[in-house]
Amino acid sequence: MATMRVVAPVLAPMKVAQISKPGGNFEIVERETPTPGPGQVRIKVQACGVCHSDALTKEGGWPGIQYPRAPGHEVAGTIDELGAGVSAWKKGQRVGVGWHGGHDNTCRECRRGDFRNCQNLKIPGISYDGGYQQYMLAPVEALASIPDTLKDAEAAPLLCAGITTYNALRHSGALPGDLVAVQGIGGLGHLGIQFANKFGYKVAAIGRGSENSSLAKKLGATVYIDSKATNAAQALQKLGGARVIMATAPSSKAMSELIDGLGPNGELIVIGATFDPIEVTPIQLITGSKTIQGWAAGTPADSEDTLRFAELSGVRPMIETYPLEKAGEAYERMMSGKAQFRVVLIM
Ligand SMILES: [Zn+2]
Ligand SMILES: [Zn+2]
Repeated sequence: MATMRVVAPVLAPMKVAQISKPGGNFEIVERETPTPGPGQVRIKVQACGVCHSDALTKEGGWPGIQYPRAPGHEVAGTIDELGAGVSAWKKGQRVGVGWHGGHDNTCRECRRGDFRNCQNLKIPGISYDGGYQQYMLAPVEALASIPDTLKDAEAAPLLCAGITTYNALRHSGALPGDLVAVQGIGGLGHLGIQFANKFGYKVAAIGRGSENSSLAKKLGATVYIDSKATNAAQALQKLGGARVIMATAPSSKAMSELIDGLGPNGELIVIGATFDPIEVTPIQLITGSKTIQGWAAGTPADSEDTLRFAELSGVRPMIETYPLEKAGEAYERMMSGKAQFRVVLIM
C-alpha cells in the first residue's frame, strides 16, 4: 500500500517592491509567497497607498528597521489564507490595514484599552513587510473590514490619510456650525476638507496661492483663505476665530503663523509631520485657553468607522494610480508634492 504523503501546495512566487538598505532605491524582486502564522492572515493585496511616511522606510528614518523591507501602510485587499486560531475573519473577506499594524494586548496602554498608544505598536512596512507586494501577512488585530461599495484603490488612502483627518476632527470637540480651518490642500487636506464639510462645520480652507481655491470649495470649503496674499490668522479672526485649525501641510512656520487665528478654547491639531519647532508664546495659549494637540491615525476599529462614514457620506480620496512595478516612480511622484492628491499602487 502506498504511503499517503501530505504535500503543501506550492505557491507561485510573488512580486515585491522592496528597499534593501536605508537610502536605497526600489527593487522589484520575486519572493516566495508567505504562509500566515498563528493569529495572522494572508492578504492578496489589491491596492496600496503611497504615503509620505513611507520615507521612514526608504531613508531609514525609523529605528530598528530590518532590511530588505517592503513599505506600505495603506493596504486594501482580500483575505486568501488564515493562520491557526483565526476564527473571526473569513477567506475572501475584503480587509484593509493602516498605520496601526498590531498591538501586544499586554502593555500598560493596551490594558487600559488605549491600543493606539501601545508601547509595542507594530507598523506595516516598518515592523514587517507592508503592502508594496502581491501578498502580505498581517495580525488579526490590524484588520479593518472594507464596505462593499468602496473600491480598493479608494479605500487604501482612507486607511492612513483618511483615518487621521476623520479621527482627529471627530475627537476635536468642534460642534456642527463651528468654524474649522483646514490648513494645506494636499493628500491629507483634501480629505480633511471633505470630512469637515460632512461633519457640518463651517470650513475655512487655507492654502498658499489662489490656484486651489475653486477645488477647495468643490471639496466642501465655505471660504478659501490664500495665506500668501492675506494674513490667514487675521482672516480667521474676522470670521469669529476658529474652534479648530487642523494643520496638514508639513510647515512648522505656517502652523506658528495660524495660532492667532484660534478663537476662545480653540485648538490647533497638528497632523502634518515635521522635525522643526512650532513657535508659540505662553501668552498666546493662555489668552482664550487655547491648546495645541498632535494626532496620530487610530485603531483598526477607527479605520472601519472612517470607511463606513466615507461610504455613507460620499467622501473619497482623489488618486493617481501606478502599477506595483513602478513603485519607485510612484514614490517620486508622491514626494514631488505634485500628485492630485494621493498616489496608489495597483497590484
Ligand atoms: Zn501614512
Ligand atoms: Zn500594548
